[in-house]
Amino acid sequence: MPELPEVETIRRDLKKLILNKKIKTFLVTQKARIRNSSLGKFRNTIKNNYFKNIDRIGKLLIFVMPEDKYLLIHLKMTGQLIYEKDHRIVAGGHPEPESEKSIKNKFTRVEFIFSDGSKLYFNDMRRFGYLQIVDKKELKKIKEGFGMEPLTKSFRFENFLEILKNRKTNIKALLLNQKAISGIGNIYADEVCFDAGIRPGRKINQLSKLEKKELFKSLEKIIKIAIEKRGTSFKNYLDGSGRQGNFVKHLKVYGRSGKKCKKCKTELKKIKLAGRGTTYCPKCQK
Ligand SMILES: [Zn+2]
Repeated sequence: MPELPEVETIRRDLKKLILNKKIKTFLVTQKARIRNSSLGKFRNTIKNNYFKNIDRIGKLLIFVMPEDKYLLIHLKMTGQLIYEKDHRIVAGGHPEPESEKSIKNKFTRVEFIFSDGSKLYFNDMRRFGYLQIVDKKELKKIKEGFGMEPLTKSFRFENFLEILKNRKTNIKALLLNQKAISGIGNIYADEVCFDAGIRPGRKINQLSKLEKKELFKSLEKIIKIAIEKRGTSFKNYLDGSGRQGNFVKHLKVYGRSGKKCKKCKTELKKIKLAGRGTTYCPKCQK
């Protein structure tokens, strides 16, 4: 599932590509999850409209349209948003060779076609991802449901301690809880715990203040590096231009169970926590 760094990479890419372009056509090519609206109404809002800005909260993308309308897109497990220039049009209008491959594929559910011929595809294999249009009031309410987010102003240690207060769950469950901390999924939860040197199964209420501090610092550090590396490509993630993320080379534990720890050569262990596969180093993490 794309997590904060992947969604942020897509947001930054698309901001450079699609802002203020008129949406000439909006196509639903396959069954797509459109929330709280009929397709006709949805299409009417999108067609001939444009995106003024692209925002994000946690893993949710917010496409800002005029008149306080917002298109929300959540990629969930396998969603992709991929931009494609009109590959048939080159300077002078000569068509490019037929071999030019389109990024559209059998899981393309929605297409935004802009007036310059470029397109934005929403592909989703598993169809957990969704699109939704909301107004300002609804957006505010949705935002209130998100927990504190790394790299934002409110992400301060004293706020973090407040969130950790009286929690009896383990660290992994807390990191995955979007209402507590937003944007973290399975990949970065495991990486953050490794970086902090703490086992993901430890109970929150049994952590020392120093360990909480380590966890806090690692959250910011790992998310920051992952954004710089344009996210992690694992299975389905591609950035806004259809490229893979580079953080995969930096993964220390995620997807590496049974392999040797990059730091101490101990075999990495895999367990199940909060219903998710969780990998850690039994020696580096206490
Ligand atoms: Zn180790």
